[in-house]
Amino acid sequence: MRIDCLTLFPEMMQAVLTESIIGRAVRNGILDVRYTDIRDFAGNKHNRVDDAPYGGGMGMVMQPEPIYRAYQEVLKTADEKPRVIYLSPQGRVFNQDIAKELSQEKHLVFLCGHYEGVDERVIEEIVDEELSIGDYVLTGGEIPAMAVIDAVARLVPGVLPSAEAYSEESLYNGLLEYPQYTRPPVFMNKEVPEVLLSGHHENIKAWRRAQSVIRTCRKRPELLTDADLTDEEQRLIKTLLEEEKL
Ligand code: SAM
Repeated sequence: MRIDCLTLFPEMMQAVLTESIIGRAVRNGILDVRYTDIRDFAGNKHNRVDDAPYGGGMGMVMQPEPIYRAYQEVLKTADEKPRVIYLSPQGRVFNQDIAKELSQEKHLVFLCGHYEGVDERVIEEIVDEELSIGDYVLTGGEIPAMAVIDAVARLVPGVLPSAEAYSEESLYNGLLEYPQYTRPPVFMNKEVPEVLLSGHHENIKAWRRAQSVIRTCRKRPELLTDADLTDEEQRLIKTLLEEEKL
């Protein structure tokens, strides 16, 4: 998968996306992550890329031409039209389903805004959709873009050791993940649940599934509406709700 970041702070993104699992996938050639510094396309001797908003008001707005030229530069080396995402608090709120959807794409472009945001005309011209990482406002689109890139990239085949690494995780199948344990077997007088030490795969699977359902019921009950549950699991939830008055 190719990923292009249009940003005023390429070093900030590079510092994060060259580390750990994503960094390894880049080094292995599974991900091709590129950074375009919008300032390189300022087109004026002071390298200015922002100006005061028409109509007055606080702050500065990123001008459309440098962003447009930066995007045209990306297109020069693109095999096909990429899907262009503008990170914005006004966008559709990002979630695991959107991550799955984006992981199917061949080429994504992330436009990171700053200051008061981006001139509306360039959004209309080049952006396919706006994504938000939540109902709060950050100073720039770099952290949101990195969050989206990280969530999407780990679903790209080859980035994690196997699909199992993410398909059992929280939210992937509509439920939260079961509790995890590792060595030592006893910590602060708390023992690892016996079933996990039994080596009985069917029992472990059943225990984990039940724990997932119980956890989701306790921590994020609203997720259960869309979860694919058996009749037995529905009954378990009903009992839990009655017993614990959740
Ligand atoms: N004035 C804009 C508004 O009210 O919609 C907010 C601008 S914000 C201070 C600067 C930039 O940060 C935005 O252009 C966007 O790229 C990014 N940003 C801020 N909060 C975000 C969020 N929740 N999700 C995604 N991007 C966000």
